[in-house]
Amino acid sequence: MPTPVNPLPVLSVAPSQVIRGRGILAEAVAAIAKLGQRPFVVGGDTTLQLVQSQLQPALKQHKLQAAQMAYLPDCSETSLAALQTAFQAHQADSVIGIGGGKALDAAKLLAHQCATPVVTIPTSGATCAAWTALSNVYSNEGAFLYDVPLPQCPNLLILDYDLIATAPQRTLVAGIGDAIAKWYEASVSSGHSQHTLIIAAVQQARVLRDILFQKSVEALQHPGSDTWQEVVDASVLLAGVIGGLGGAQCRTVAAHAVHNGLTHLPASHGTLHGEKVAYGILVQLRLEELIQGSQLAATARQQLLKFYTEIGLPCSLHDLGLSQTSLADLEHAAAIACTENSDIHHLPFPVNPTQLLAAMVSTTAPSQGIKRWGEEEIERQESEVQA
Ligand SMILES: [Zn+2]
Repeated sequence: MPTPVNPLPVLSVAPSQVIRGRGILAEAVAAIAKLGQRPFVVGGDTTLQLVQSQLQPALKQHKLQAAQMAYLPDCSETSLAALQTAFQAHQADSVIGIGGGKALDAAKLLAHQCATPVVTIPTSGATCAAWTALSNVYSNEGAFLYDVPLPQCPNLLILDYDLIATAPQRTLVAGIGDAIAKWYEASVSSGHSQHTLIIAAVQQARVLRDILFQKSVEALQHPGSDTWQEVVDASVLLAGVIGGLGGAQCRTVAAHAVHNGLTHLPASHGTLHGEKVAYGILVQLRLEELIQGSQLAATARQQLLKFYTEIGLPCSLHDLGLSQTSLADLEHAAAIACTENSDIHHLPFPVNPTQLLAAMVSTTAPSQGIKRWGEEEIERQESEVQA
């Protein structure tokens, strides 16, 4: 018998179908009808009320028997259990997720648990959750717990730019922060990979960063314009392509680990995912500066500080509304970001909570403003990296 070949991870690069356009939601229901006759709609409380007037008549017109439920209090195990019960009570045969990242994550995970097709309808440009085969699970209080890789991307993604245009501008700014992280994280976690698809994913991440550098300011000045639409595509779609192409080897590093740590501080809940991640990129670069003495990271951080100021992304704990947070709480967040399974350990050098905290409080420092750790400390770090 031939020896079985080690199977490579299953790839799910993209949703089976993406329908895009302005005011296309009602029209796109025809495509939803092909996936099921009894859809179960999952969204946030406010979103469900807002889209009621648009989505419900269109579902009725196609004779779809829909039920709906909010994913409250969070995309948590409790909410998912309640959603499953309601899904079964409705005898649903498909899931429609509508809203921001957490609504879409809840919908995707529910559909996976119930083995039915899922449609994602993002209502903001804040994340690429409408595209990806991944759901984040939080506690009822909103603390990040773990992510669940899903076997496939959604069956259908409906991107209605008119719907995105109704979201607060701040959500797209956050989406830019989340999307730009792809380059800083993917280039670290997979920068030396020789695999064709990983190389392609990392290069796409660089293209994505450049598009956002070039177009974000203009897009935010002219919401609804063609440039704005390109930036929405970059944040919602291209960011998803990179996750799909790169798969598990092209995942998050310190920027998202810092985000995950911060979600454990209730005071951080006033800021969006992408805002915390954007700040996390600065922390990651600061670590590379302080521990590796990387001049490239120092330059990149200064470049980002300028960009963030132009578009309104947070540069510091103060900007995240965490200037009053106690040292003990910050130490707690840093400790969570450094737990054994944290993605922060995808950095090419070891990081401990003390070092992380030092980076967290100095994201806006001038490049030469803070002394590096003692030389012996750096040598020790370097020898560990080489070992
Ligand atoms: Zn993210």
